Amino acid sequence: MFDTYLIKYGEIGIKGKNRHVFEDALAKQIRLALAKIPGEFTVRHERGRVYVHCEGEWEAGETVDALQHVFGIVGICPVHTYETRDPEALKSDILDYVSREYADRTATFKVKVRRVDKEFPGTSMEIAADLGEVILEHFPNLSVDVHNPDIMFDIEIRDTVYIYSEIIPGPGGMPVGTNGSAMLCLSGGIDSPVAGWMIAKRGVSLDAVYFHAPPYTSERAREKVVDLARAVSAYAGPIRLYVVNFTDIQMAIYDHCPHEELTIIMRRYMMRIAEHFAKERGNLGIVTGESIGQVASQTMQSLMTTNAAVTLPVYRPLIGFDKNEIVEVAEKIGTYETSILPYEDCCTIFVAKHPVTKPVLEIIERSEAKLKGVVEELVEEAIRTVEVVRV
Ligand code: ATP
Ligand code: MG
Repeated sequence: MFDTYLIKYGEIGIKGKNRHVFEDALAKQIRLALAKIPGEFTVRHERGRVYVHCEGEWEAGETVDALQHVFGIVGICPVHTYETRDPEALKSDILDYVSREYADRTATFKVKVRRVDKEFPGTSMEIAADLGEVILEHFPNLSVDVHNPDIMFDIEIRDTVYIYSEIIPGPGGMPVGTNGSAMLCLSGGIDSPVAGWMIAKRGVSLDAVYFHAPPYTSERAREKVVDLARAVSAYAGPIRLYVVNFTDIQMAIYDHCPHEELTIIMRRYMMRIAEHFAKERGNLGIVTGESIGQVASQTMQSLMTTNAAVTLPVYRPLIGFDKNEIVEVAEKIGTYETSILPYEDCCTIFVAKHPVTKPVLEIIERSEAKLKGVVEELVEEAIRTVEVVRV
């Protein structure tokens, strides 16, 4: 009966105690993902394998899709299970399996047996040879190739017999929750959701911060960011999205600082506020969607100047990506369609015609000094009035 998935996971380098942490986190994330869809699922791990047993109103496509959102999973194998205790019955099991899955296919195959139940008669090699023979007898369209088979029949003999041959790719990476947490600066653009996804893929859970500037940015722009946070959370798990009203800070910068430095000074205040919430949450770093040279505020000089505003590490997973490479990931993870909706973001309203492309930290700091006595209270106010959206 097809009612189980065998979950293959990577990162074999993880040993000893860490292995348990990894497996527990993986099982937890699998349960969370499956809780969102109909069906009753039992997740158990034993001896380096994770199995998902499915009952009730479950549906294969939906289940695989849910599993493909769980980082740490490398492969998802649909498994047929058989309650078999003797070699003859095992032969009819394999015939049942092959006739269901491969009756009409012309292909080469190999049989691999893992005899975990040592009571079961015969060696793994003998059982594999017997099963190969019986397949050849009944399916003339199938032939053996032990070196490079089209189909690998994997048979595991445990308390139950598991037969599988298909491996559906998972997203890879490490289970969320195994590597601390980070604060994602999430705008409505294409890049930052991808950046968050990439950090989450390494096992990091996320919080996020969005700076909006009502009435210059609309409610729909804000909704778009909430939607993007939700799309990222389909992989990264629950996210606390801090929505910060940035209007007054932005206006103050506009009034007091040289206009060609607006963007860079704004970015520095965003980073400071992001860091405030990050520290409050115990996050171990800040994540942005920046990539070298993409725009004026992302030259090496600009990145250095923005970076200097905070002490927490700033992670920029897209740093070496071209735009088309970022778009490719955005499409794959399902954020692209939302990201390209044409709602203004708070940076585009106040951009200067000729922004500095090579800011010098000392000069920027001198400009920021003009905000003294004005900006402190505005920053406090922005922090105090933050709205937290849980997605
Ligand atoms: P994105 O496509 O992610 O919006 P971008 O190419 O538009 O990036 P910038 O606007 O320079 O680039 O922003 C660089 C990074 O700064 C973003 O990837 C994001 O991490 C952060 N950021 C920019 N604007 C905001 C905002 N309004 N709220 C939160 N973070 C922001
Ligand atoms: Mg942007």
